[in-house]
Amino acid sequence: MSRILIIEDEEAIADLEKDYLELSGFEVEIEHGGEKGLYRSINEDFDLIILDLMLPEIDGFEICRKVREVKNIPVIMVSAKKEDIDKIRGLGLGADDYITKPFSPSELVARVKAHLDRYNRLVGSRPQNDIIEIRGIRIDKSARRVWVNGEEKTFTGKEFDLLTFLAENPNRVFRKDELFREIWDMESVGDIATVTVHIKKIREKIEFNTANPQYIETIWGVGYRFKM
Ligand code: CA
Repeated sequence: MSRILIIEDEEAIADLEKDYLELSGFEVEIEHGGEKGLYRSINEDFDLIILDLMLPEIDGFEICRKVREVKNIPVIMVSAKKEDIDKIRGLGLGADDYITKPFSPSELVARVKAHLDRYNRLVGSRPQNDIIEIRGIRIDKSARRVWVNGEEKTFTGKEFDLLTFLAENPNRVFRKDELFREIWDMESVGDIATVTVHIKKIREKIEFNTANPQYIETIWGVGYRFKM
């Protein structure tokens, strides 16, 4: 079932949208504030976002921009003013669609369905999975770029390979010598300290607190594991 997040400060409108979408078989959540809405858009796995433009804390422009940096999911922007829609288009924020209030709920449902269909076709036709997204980390394998909570971070070649390998095999524990062989492509000759050094550098870029890592865990006496 597709999950939809509605970010809308007017409760009556949010509830109406939710009712209609749920009747059409979608799972729907609502956030009334921009801050929490942005946080959940990035850190949870929604399939589509319905985003009001004028919001407390962080407006829809900023949310759309930030979400676009880390997610490809459809974003439908909603505004009370026709002029705002023109402005959104002009800014090229990457929103997939725009609706002016007031709109009929059935029109919203139709657009949501169309965008989800299109998105699912697109994702389904991508060569393998070029994009890895795990809790705020986005790895673009073909472009070899990494974003952490919307901010791009620079990795050396081996750091990138190691991070990507662990993220592609989440919840599995790897010994240091296994990782060394995997990434450095040669028989391990005991220089597994290289792995430790690289893990430390990766953590400095992706972890909020390197003393208490949320992504790459150390399994004492064994090796490392990327937590899903
Ligand atoms: Ca509003």
